Amino acid sequence: MFKSIRWKITIIFVFLVLSSEILIGIFNLIGVSNHYHREFSQSVDTVFTEDIKNDLLAAANELTIPAPAEDDGAATVMEESSANNIAMINDILSSHSGSLGITASRFYCILDGKDGKVLTSSDGTTIIDHTPTVETAIAGNEAKEARISKKYMDYAFPLKNGDAVKYVVYIKDNCHQLASVTKTLIDIFLMSLILSLIVSAIFATIISKSITVPIQQLSSHARKLADGDITALQKTESRDELSSLRNALVDLAQTRKRSSDQAMGEKIKVETILQNMSDGILAFDMKGNLIHYNREAKKLLQRRYFDDIKFDRFFKEINAGITLGDLLYMQPDGSVEREVRISNQYLQLNFATFKVDNKVGGIIVIIHDITKQEKLEHSRRDFVANVSHELRTPLTTIKSYSETLADMPDVDRELQVRFLDVIASESDRMARIISDLLTLSELDENHTYIKTPDTIDVRKMLEIIVERMSLTAKKKNQTLTYRPTNEVPIITGDYGVLERAIINVVSNALKYTGEGGKINVYSSKVYNDICIKVTDNGIGIPEDKLPHIFDRFYRVDKARSRDTGGTGLGLAIAKQSLESSFGGKIKISSVLQKGTEVTITIPCK
Ligand code: ADP
Repeated sequence: MFKSIRWKITIIFVFLVLSSEILIGIFNLIGVSNHYHREFSQSVDTVFTEDIKNDLLAAANELTIPAPAEDDGAATVMEESSANNIAMINDILSSHSGSLGITASRFYCILDGKDGKVLTSSDGTTIIDHTPTVETAIAGNEAKEARISKKYMDYAFPLKNGDAVKYVVYIKDNCHQLASVTKTLIDIFLMSLILSLIVSAIFATIISKSITVPIQQLSSHARKLADGDITALQKTESRDELSSLRNALVDLAQTRKRSSDQAMGEKIKVETILQNMSDGILAFDMKGNLIHYNREAKKLLQRRYFDDIKFDRFFKEINAGITLGDLLYMQPDGSVEREVRISNQYLQLNFATFKVDNKVGGIIVIIHDITKQEKLEHSRRDFVANVSHELRTPLTTIKSYSETLADMPDVDRELQVRFLDVIASESDRMARIISDLLTLSELDENHTYIKTPDTIDVRKMLEIIVERMSLTAKKKNQTLTYRPTNEVPIITGDYGVLERAIINVVSNALKYTGEGGKINVYSSKVYNDICIKVTDNGIGIPEDKLPHIFDRFYRVDKARSRDTGGTGLGLAIAKQSLESSFGGKIKISSVLQKGTEVTITIPCK
């Protein structure tokens, strides 16, 4: 409680007032006492001048001879003379009793010079204490005691006759008056002390309040400032200490707010960047506890929760083959790379340390989804293998037929022609594969050279294609019919691309439909699209093969497709060229042994 400024100010104020009061009281008492003693000393000095002393001596030694009585002897004469002397001395002293300040507490007396007995006194005193002053005077010397430390003051003057002390004039102040004055003063002093205590306590409370209340208000405002309420305190023009403190607090709060806003802005920026990164981020402290992660990390690692993740345990779980210990002794600025597979996703993990206060503070893990690259790499490898295989087959045929021909110079003409036909057809096949590959390569690299777009009458185009391919259909007793549903608008674009795609689809329908099959070609306008549909009642495609039907070199039945001259590139080229040249789409649906339906959709421009 007494630690508060309010109490401290009150106590100091009351202490100062009381101590000054006490000091004044003590000085007053000492002053009064001093004055009293000085006054006694001065009175004695003023009265007992050399003249008075001589008068007193004379009075003491004067011999008065009264008329002799008949029976009186010499002794009686002496007694009477002595009484006269005493009376004379008494007269002199009495005449100066005013100057000596003779009162109830101060008296004078005349003592016998031999034994110090009281012969007469101003107040009837008959017995006195034989103080050192009295003893000194009886011994023949004048003496005075007026020290404050003594409870009395006295003065003694010996009246001698020759060397013998005849009388002693003795004045004593028993200080009763001083004691009574002192007591009165102390009473007054105590009264004023109590009053001062009350008044000073009231004043101290008022003064301390005038100081502490603004401080308390300032503290409460400062607390609000600390809680972020910047409007809690405003600057003031006053120049006093509290106003300076207030202004300093406002400056401090504003600076703090600015820097915390800045820090918050930076934090939000970093957080936004981290949260919106396409890579996943994990941060671990030196104990291996996860301290930060972003949304992408959760998604890539396919985890809903990241609670209680520990570095070593987690990376062991996903088979990353790395521990915290491996990283701590890594070169500064170095990083470690690992690849993991989580279900059908391939992830690349980059581990790097980060520093806090110039020491390794933890580990940052950047997770990069490399599934696409992995798949691309995979399909690239497949593609190379497919191309090699596709080219090797006709090459092997050509080689074996040509070697046979070479080994049999006498072979008959008919067989020779058959062999040469096979060689020519395999060469055509190779040429087709190479031409298809070149087309795909052009489409891949977007080498669609800019040419003036053709005006395409889809209906007419379909009529021509169907008519041209009817001959092939007839060979297998198939019925190829074009059935336009409604009018289709004229569009613009690359005629050759669309024609090639439709021919591929129709020729597939013919190829994969048996003898006497039915192939229908439809055209219609549906909303803003031109829809070309080719249906057949052929062998169909198994459901599980449908997702791969547009892959390069994909064939449901490799042997049969090769027999029919297929390369497995037709639908891949059709899809890619329709998308890039017309923004169109191609879809295929099929039921095994029932038939297939291929739909090409081209938006009308
Ligand atoms: P291909 O040159 O081998 O015909 P495509 O890319 O045109 O190559 O076709 C890929 C594969 O799709 C074919 O090998 C075939 O197995 C299957 N296919 C395409 N169209 C049909 C269809 N109408 N009926 C049955 N299977 C089809």
